[in-house]
Amino acid sequence: MPDKIFSLVAKELKRQKEMIGLIPSENTVSPAVSKVLSSCLSNKYSEGYALRRYYEGNQIIDEIELLAIERIKKLFGVPYVNVQPYSGSPANWAIYFSLMQPGDTLMGLKLSMGGHLTHGHPDVTASGRFYNSVQYGVKKDARIDFAEVEQLAKKHKPKVIVAGNTAYPFELDFKKFRAIADKVGAWLVADISHITGLVIAGEHMSPVPYADVIMTTTHKTFRGPRGAMILVTQRGLDRDPDLGKRMNAAIIPGTQGGPHNATTAGIAIAAAEASTAKFRAYGKQIRKNATALATELLQQDIDLVGGGTETHLMVIDLTKFGIGLGTQVAFALDVAGIYANRNTIPTEQGSPFYPSGLRLGTPLVTSRGMKEKEMKQIAKWIALVAKHVSEQQLPTDRKERAVFLKKFRKNALKDPVLKNIRKEVKMMTAKFPLFQL
Ligand SMILES: *Cc1c(COP(=O)(O)O)cnc(C)c1O
Repeated sequence: MPDKIFSLVAKELKRQKEMIGLIPSENTVSPAVSKVLSSCLSNKYSEGYALRRYYEGNQIIDEIELLAIERIKKLFGVPYVNVQPYSGSPANWAIYFSLMQPGDTLMGLKLSMGGHLTHGHPDVTASGRFYNSVQYGVKKDARIDFAEVEQLAKKHKPKVIVAGNTAYPFELDFKKFRAIADKVGAWLVADISHITGLVIAGEHMSPVPYADVIMTTTHKTFRGPRGAMILVTQRGLDRDPDLGKRMNAAIIPGTQGGPHNATTAGIAIAAAEASTAKFRAYGKQIRKNATALATELLQQDIDLVGGGTETHLMVIDLTKFGIGLGTQVAFALDVAGIYANRNTIPTEQGSPFYPSGLRLGTPLVTSRGMKEKEMKQIAKWIALVAKHVSEQQLPTDRKERAVFLKKFRKNALKDPVLKNIRKEVKMMTAKFPLFQL
């Protein structure tokens, strides 16, 4: 009898194939990346770095890691790369560990305004508790308030300023961040996890000329395995010739043990795939699709945070339908075959569990080969669902809300409007295979 896990994997594959995935941090890997992830490379321990390992038997692993590093260096034009971080969160932690002492000041974008938990979110995260976290925000137009960034930087003298985004729909102006970092002598860390593919495709300003250190996950728009990498720029090395070595030491022994070698190999393959004209065309199509999706949503009278997008993602503002509707709209969309995630908006009047926003992105649907025509149809479905379910208003009382939500979910599963969209979604997705490469 095969393990039950395999039937669950088959179910998950069916779910992914039949649904439209709009979570901007998700993507689909190529068959080559998928293959190497399940290879014998998982069997090997390789603590340390190539040619300086603590374990024997790493001759081949060394070649794999060196090849991954060479490809990434070339792809981004940077002098120093570490491909060993387990994922984006530990990579950020390692960078902070190397550049700061506990209690030093860290500046990042507020979570509710599009930043990441690891950018110093107070109280509940390690980055917010071990460092003196100062958070900047966005203006009324939902764009980063650089006057505030500068004023906070001058007042608090951060050691590290992080420029990065997870739910911020506009281009990050690394040049402006650099000018502010220089005024107060801070390190500028660019966390481009979400936008790496766009940077490679020339669809987003590159942080390479401006940042000292760059972190990116490898599984988002980069379309590689789940992991992360730390890049040190020439600018960073000019400031401290040991910066690369410091990053290596921050990964091991600083914060990690042995690297995940199958992931390293997957990163090397994804780097080769990302070096092609085909990938650049992919990055451009992500942007075109995002614009098409945003344009049609606006056309359908759906509000977007900041009024649109300059990247792969956008955040719907559901406030005009009612405060805190993100949870029920996201659930109803999932029933209708479209999965996205609820999100806070900069002017949030709800709560993190009942936020008023919905975050959407186009990397995964673009990997499947969908174009503007499909985006237009998807926007129409989303608008229909949002309008349909907001007829049932979320109660303001906390206890009543929980009861309401339970009932809402039960009813949504049988809702003919949602069921009908799901059928149409299934017909559309059948035309776009999950593994397109
Ligand atoms: C996804 C993301 C991370 C964290 O990556 P994980 O792999 O989920 O740990 C960090 N920073 C940003 C900006 C991200 O988008």
